[in-house]
Amino acid sequence: FASSTAFHLQNPSTTSSSALYAGVERNANFAKLAGGYLFPEIARRRTSYLEENPAMKDRVISLGIGDTTQPIPPHILNGLVEGAKQLGTKEGYSGYGAEQGMQKLRAKIAEKLYNGIIAADEVFVSDGAKPDIMRLQQMFGPKVVSAVQDPSYPVYVDTSVIMGQTGEQDTNLKQYENVIYMPCTPENGFFPDYSSVPRADIVYLCSPNNPTGAAATKEQLEGLVKLCKERGSILVFDAAYAPFIRSEGVPKSIFEIEGAREVAIEVNSFSKYAGFTGVRLGWTVIPGDLKFKDGSLVRNDFNRIMTTTFNGASNIVQAGGLACLDDEGLAEIDALIDYYLKNANILRETFEKIGYDVYGGVDAPYVFVKLPASMGGSWDAFQTILEKTQVVTIPGAGFGPGGEGFLRLSAFAPREAVVEACKRLEEALAPVSA
Ligand code: PLP
Repeated sequence: FASSTAFHLQNPSTTSSSALYAGVERNANFAKLAGGYLFPEIARRRTSYLEENPAMKDRVISLGIGDTTQPIPPHILNGLVEGAKQLGTKEGYSGYGAEQGMQKLRAKIAEKLYNGIIAADEVFVSDGAKPDIMRLQQMFGPKVVSAVQDPSYPVYVDTSVIMGQTGEQDTNLKQYENVIYMPCTPENGFFPDYSSVPRADIVYLCSPNNPTGAAATKEQLEGLVKLCKERGSILVFDAAYAPFIRSEGVPKSIFEIEGAREVAIEVNSFSKYAGFTGVRLGWTVIPGDLKFKDGSLVRNDFNRIMTTTFNGASNIVQAGGLACLDDEGLAEIDALIDYYLKNANILRETFEKIGYDVYGGVDAPYVFVKLPASMGGSWDAFQTILEKTQVVTIPGAGFGPGGEGFLRLSAFAPREAVVEACKRLEEALAPVSA
């Protein structure tokens, strides 16, 4: 029977029988990956809990994944709306844009967020920091050795595995061969001692940190930049949480550090600045002074990756990015961040009251809580808290072996949800005697 649309397709499964498997070898790197990516795994456990306890559906509060919840404020929203409207006019319409982003946005990022330390043509606008991390990996290729903070945002390690830079995971240590893990603990202020581990080609550092909430000091970053220079390492600095820094003297960008232009790349994003987690807009800075061993410019290779594999961030979204960087937009971002920082403070105070050791949550949206031994491992604690309070958290072990014994809580939930979650947590978690 004829379909009413020209696009009606016939389901091939009803018309042919074919082989069950393609004759293609699976990329062996995927078999090395341990389990699913962390956040879908959390969602899976939450769903499975709700399947068993459907009555709890309306009680679940998520302090898990670091996803923003507050609406996009008016000036920034207007930028997005106007960007969309332009596409409906002859004069305003635009198709493919520059793969590196609109020149106007690159220049505004350089001026407003980097005070001119960075030039417009060193800024590559993208659809977010996470895809940029993978693009950097594609540029570095399979032969580099990477060093990561332990615990850390899982994308650095997982993309290294996918790229084939690593060996298998040691199931006891929960560490991959050929990745250098730099322990970050309360004792070292969650800042890695790169000098105590072997040299890596690429060093990933995230500040303010996900998951520990630690923001690196100027002295710490000066030491790391110096060491990377001496060892010939490239530092990939993830500044996705930079606007949460409110403490005096804490650098918001690695390029505030002398010498960083010769060793560092910075990945960044509007996701957490302006509630753009779903809108998708980020950027990566590659200074013109950064060179590979053969003297070639890193920026040129990244440009090649962008022009070959990316067709530019959405023009609508880039109009939103321009609005973010107007004075009104910057003020709106500050107000949003104030809101989330207040949530972080409520979380901190709650756990302090319960008697746990609490880290982060001052210049960061994450609170990192040390679990008492009585709670078992961090996945056990996650499960117990979910069952007792219907609050979703993230087990520290999900961020690497160094996160075992900790729980990460996100301050991105609405205020009422944070307050309610804290009430339940306080009731459920027995005070720890000193
Ligand atoms: N970097 C860190 C440290 C993050 O925690 C996140 C998201 O949670 C990202 C990057 C991803 O940013 P984007 O939304 O721009 O892909």
